[in-house]
Amino acid sequence: MNDFEAHVQAIGRRLYGRASGRRPRLFRGLTGGLLEKAMADERLRGGLFQLVDALPQLRDAGDIADHLRAYLAPYLGDMKHTGWHGALLALAGRPSLAWSVRWFTRRMARGFLGEESGRGIARILHELAGLPAAVTLDAVGEAVLSDAEADAYLARNLALLGWLTPHGRPHLSLKLSALSARFDALDAAGTRRRVFARLEPLLAEASRLGATITVDMEHYEIKPLILDLFLDMVADFPGDWQPAVALQAYLAETPVDVMRVLEAAQHSGRRLGVRLVKGAYWDQESAWAAQRGWPIPMLRDKAATDAQYESLTANLMERSDVVFPAIASHNLRSQAVALANAHRLGLDDSRWEAQMLHGMAEPLRDALAADGAPLRIYVPTGELDTGIAYLIRRLLENTAATSVLRQSYIGGLDATALLAVPQPGLPPGEPNPAGFANLPLLDFSGETARVDFAQALRTVRASLPRRHPLAEAPPVGQHRVCNPARPAEVLGEIELADAADANTAVAAARDAFPAWSVTPVAERCRVLRRTADLIESRRLELAALEVLEEAKPWREADADVAEAVDFLRYYASEMEKLDGWRTTTDFPGESNRFGYAPRGVAVVIAPWNFPLALITGMTAAALVAGNSVIMKPALPAMLAAHELLAVLHEAGVPAATVQLLPGGADVGAALVGHVDVQVIAFTGSRQVGLQILQAAHTPMPGQHHIKQVVCEMGGKNAIVVDADADLDEAVTGILASAFGYSGQKCSACSRVIAVGAVHDRLLARLAEAAAATGWGEPEDPANDHGPLITEAARAKALAYIDIGRAEGRLVWQGSVPEDGWYAPPAIFADIQPQHRLAREEVFGPVLAVLRAPDFAAALAMAADGDYGLTGGVYSRLPGHLALAQERCRVGNLYLNRRITGARVGVQPFGGIALSGTGVQAGGPDYLKQFLWSRSVSANTQRHGFMPPA
Ligand code: NAD
Repeated sequence: MNDFEAHVQAIGRRLYGRASGRRPRLFRGLTGGLLEKAMADERLRGGLFQLVDALPQLRDAGDIADHLRAYLAPYLGDMKHTGWHGALLALAGRPSLAWSVRWFTRRMARGFLGEESGRGIARILHELAGLPAAVTLDAVGEAVLSDAEADAYLARNLALLGWLTPHGRPHLSLKLSALSARFDALDAAGTRRRVFARLEPLLAEASRLGATITVDMEHYEIKPLILDLFLDMVADFPGDWQPAVALQAYLAETPVDVMRVLEAAQHSGRRLGVRLVKGAYWDQESAWAAQRGWPIPMLRDKAATDAQYESLTANLMERSDVVFPAIASHNLRSQAVALANAHRLGLDDSRWEAQMLHGMAEPLRDALAADGAPLRIYVPTGELDTGIAYLIRRLLENTAATSVLRQSYIGGLDATALLAVPQPGLPPGEPNPAGFANLPLLDFSGETARVDFAQALRTVRASLPRRHPLAEAPPVGQHRVCNPARPAEVLGEIELADAADANTAVAAARDAFPAWSVTPVAERCRVLRRTADLIESRRLELAALEVLEEAKPWREADADVAEAVDFLRYYASEMEKLDGWRTTTDFPGESNRFGYAPRGVAVVIAPWNFPLALITGMTAAALVAGNSVIMKPALPAMLAAHELLAVLHEAGVPAATVQLLPGGADVGAALVGHVDVQVIAFTGSRQVGLQILQAAHTPMPGQHHIKQVVCEMGGKNAIVVDADADLDEAVTGILASAFGYSGQKCSACSRVIAVGAVHDRLLARLAEAAAATGWGEPEDPANDHGPLITEAARAKALAYIDIGRAEGRLVWQGSVPEDGWYAPPAIFADIQPQHRLAREEVFGPVLAVLRAPDFAAALAMAADGDYGLTGGVYSRLPGHLALAQERCRVGNLYLNRRITGARVGVQPFGGIALSGTGVQAGGPDYLKQFLWSRSVSANTQRHGFMPPA
């Protein structure tokens, strides 16, 4: 053991001696008893946290009792598992006593959450003065989704500064994301403008008071933006305020961020504070990264984080000439290391401080104070109800098995164990998913992706206008492709075919079929995968083309290209499973085999709204199954479709095996009616879909087969918001689902059904949050949403807005640019189930809000209609979620999340009723629609002789 380590051990043992024998408030009394039980039982822990999480939203004692029973039923009155707490809980499960749960939770919360008033703050400061310890205040609350909420956050912080001033230099912790309703790296410049507009008065006041403002770190996706903004704040707002930023030791890249802050400090000549924390979003970050297929940004094991924390502590304290380190940890060893460093470097109290959370680890806090360490307590303040989210996070963190608080105070670890040098293990390797995996979407949080995408837009623009002449025959007309955001801008010219050309195309496809149908599955799969690779290698350019041709915002365009890649790879891997003969049941003397065969000429009729993904999906399925294909794209997606054709040919699909016939409805109808067509894969509107079904199932003269029709149509999708729903999540999810791509998704939410009293609050927050969305040219990432696809689509949306005004009450309408095919987004309330706005597909940014008396009625309203595509439910009652699963007749049901963005292979997509034929794209049953199945049964017996098997 070296001298430094010996010193750490000595300090650690001294602190341990002072702190041992006491428990923090967290683990004392009724709360402590219950938490201790919960730590021994993950399900009880989960149930308790779910209950506390739902409490703020529950209206009356009956509601509380329902939730308590739903989450904790197995434990109520169960003396064996929960002891007398179980008996107490059972009592509280009676409606007459359920109020006590809220009372108890509030009391518990007050132990960790300061009262946000002059008096409340004075009381806490008075309590801590004796230690002594300073404070930093953090105004906690709901997610900020609107300008009004961001203004309120600013006002609260100004008030906090005022209340702190009589007690010395104020110290605040600030969440930058709460200063703007739209906090997005994709729009870094706009975010900066909005955040800085609210920072200005706050920093002016902070400067007048000589206050410290610590910028809190938030989740990883916005970390680069937060750090950039912090460094800009330092540069742009001189004055007497003290800037500080929180950095998380669990991120692998934090040493680089520390370097950046050190350089900025040196450069600015200002001493910058750095609060070093370990990081509080471990589970969430891991889950997000896994869901998106992005690399996990954290160090893989806890010991590695602890070790990095120690090295960063030393690093920061060594540079305390330019930074002011705040060592924020409840870990005995981490604080001992900080003290040992302070001693080693001869740092006095003005050069660093230790920080701890209010109410979390008083024994260690007191021991540090008694040891003379400079100490600051982080006190969150706010309403009890909205502070619950904070409370849950802290409780989850501190009752996790790896929590140092749990280990110290409940696990009974002794000083030797608590002070052991962290030994990082070998990080587990990246999980290697076997088989199909979705292509991860682009991560726009880093500047590189944004710069590259902007460059791709310039490259595509330089290639315009694009011309696609008809090779086979003289054109019957021209289609001019225009930018929906700037109709005067011509992107390309397409020569159009007519019904006669359909005959030529089908004849060529029929001739190409035999060779392709016997091309080995392995080869067909190889070609699909090569196509996927080519698209992936051109993903930016293809997405940029969609931004111009279909007015897709950047992220939507990228997602569409990625989905096209996914379809190609997924159907290749599915086809491999279907290839070859398999034995059903063999008997002595009889062999029985079963297998699939391609059908023939397939026609793919696609819509424009997912310009690459849907046409690629249908085409890939048909091709890999061994059919020849004629693609008939929608007019507004012709440029994208031509790119696909070129890539398929480049990847090795023979020219006649996949063709593109550019034309309108007449060409589509001619293909559908052609006698030699075997399969029709259609995605589009209900009206056209039904026409196609009828035409396809009316045999033509000389037709000797039944045409197989794969038919995906529209939707009128509803999201039910239960009385206890988490409104932060519901509002975000509804707006993304309703207005994403301006409402032009078949999966879009166009009805919200609010249960009972949640209606008014939901409506108000929806309208306020919607007002913070930006509408304009999708090329400019400052805009969330763009125009509609055509003049006709715009006229249709405007007509529905008029209908909405007549049927209901307009609660919000956005403003949109004059030029371009924009319809102003609108939210209507007081819509009744029989109204047209509640029944007809609009395909634009128009949202109808309905009211239901109870949850069952809401489900019934959701089911009332012609469609059955997607649906969503926000509720915290497991019983309600189960009921929804039972009653919602939709292809894709989403619980507590947005209802758009299905991923290939993960959420197979497609509807029933008048939304589709009930077999889902991107799912295991889809390919079979492009095949026919046959079985061969052979008698192998010859006059009593049985050949060997
Ligand atoms: P649309 O029905 O107008 O056109 C779809 C395709 O059909 C186009 O290629 C069009 O040229 C062709 N077509 C039109 N009339 C035809 C006819 N008589 N015979 C043969 N073909 C004909 O739909 P759209 O405007 O392109 O797309 C929007 C619609 O698609 C919405 O209703 C939306 O809900 C639906 N959609 C459904 C899904 C799904 O998976 N269920 C996905 C995307 C879009």
